[in-house]
Amino acid sequence: MPSLFSKIVSGEIPAVKIYEDDHTLAFLDIAPASRGHTLVIPKDEYADLYAMPPELLADVSTTVQKVALALRDTLAPDGMNIVQNNGSAAGQTVFHYHVHVIPRWEGDGVFGAWRTQQPGQDELRALAEQLRAIL
Ligand code: AMP
Repeated sequence: MPSLFSKIVSGEIPAVKIYEDDHTLAFLDIAPASRGHTLVIPKDEYADLYAMPPELLADVSTTVQKVALALRDTLAPDGMNIVQNNGSAAGQTVFHYHVHVIPRWEGDGVFGAWRTQQPGQDELRALAEQLRAIL
């Protein structure tokens, strides 16, 4: 069954679109975290970052930059968050890869600072070794 966002691509579900090209689409989030909150998606359906072909990731990134520039020039926010969730534990609710472009204003309270951990150097080095072995 096509994802919610595939239905937006096909026109089956309406959306407030702001940009599209051959491979990507940008539309306003229906429940924005801030004014201008936009989603950028590949037109083809991939569940998440892990499934995305690298060249399509590049296409989406190019559209994310275009949208961020347009939001910056239109709304003059103080900052811009680019957010991308993978898996329900990370807050993903729509399993069609998408990138949130979220304009930010000083003191808007949209996101707080995240809690940080204090790993020792040994722990960091051991983890880096595991990752380098794969990369
Ligand atoms: P995520 O939690 O990263 O999966 O984000 C899904 C996003 O899709 C949320 O910010 C929703 O508000 C947004 N959303 C869900 N349905 C629609 C829709 N029909 N049109 C626009 N945005 C939507």
